[in-house]
Amino acid sequence: MFDALESWLRLSAARLHDQAGALTALDQAIGDGDHGINMDRGFTAIVAMLDAGAPDAEGELARAGGLLRIAGRTLISTVGGAAGPLYGTAFMRGGGAIAGADASASSAEVVLGAVDAAIGGIEALGKAKTGEKTMLDALVPARDAGRAALDAGGGVGAVARAMADAAEAGALATVPLLATKGRASYLGERSIGHQDPGATSSALLLRALADVVADA
Ligand code: ADP
Ligand code: MG
Repeated sequence: MFDALESWLRLSAARLHDQAGALTALDQAIGDGDHGINMDRGFTAIVAMLDAGAPDAEGELARAGGLLRIAGRTLISTVGGAAGPLYGTAFMRGGGAIAGADASASSAEVVLGAVDAAIGGIEALGKAKTGEKTMLDALVPARDAGRAALDAGGGVGAVARAMADAAEAGALATVPLLATKGRASYLGERSIGHQDPGATSSALLLRALADVVADA
């Protein structure tokens, strides 16, 4: 679990760096044009933290959860704007869920529990719900699709793939939505017709997860 999480954070950082321009272009249309820069800065700091040696803990789930919690704190301390605190809180809650998971739970259950907790953190901080053109429009359908894949007997690879597919579809489905939360809401009707940057970065993160655990 720890090694997979570390690989996921590193792959996410590389892809966010590659996609920084595209994410920023999305944010230029309905925000202030900093989402790609924000995510790249935060994940660059996470990679620096990993390179310096992530702190240790007793037990695999405690180590993995601790890693995600530190990544969340790193995002909060390095990323301004809405997304830093939102993703930071999500990672910290997700890490808490992993650290507290039942040792007998399957990897798929642990990952889904983390995504569930992450969504709870975003909802608590951002006070948004689905349909408001935010990252939740990628994450909530992803969680639901992941749960369905688990219930159908899927392992962590199938669950993560279902989540990534649903998150990408959810991000695309933000195009016709009217933003009622965050900076994009200042545009009112003019927010319609553009893909939400945060939903797009959420889909990127879940695709990276699916690629890391593809063979598990
Ligand atoms: P800022 O809007 O402060 O410039 P970013 O550009 O980094 O921050 O992030 C914008 C993204 O944050 C949006 O595309 C949206 O997905 C997400 N977001 C903004 N407000 C909220 C909220 N209240 N709840 C959930 N997500 C939000
Ligand atoms: Mg912005």
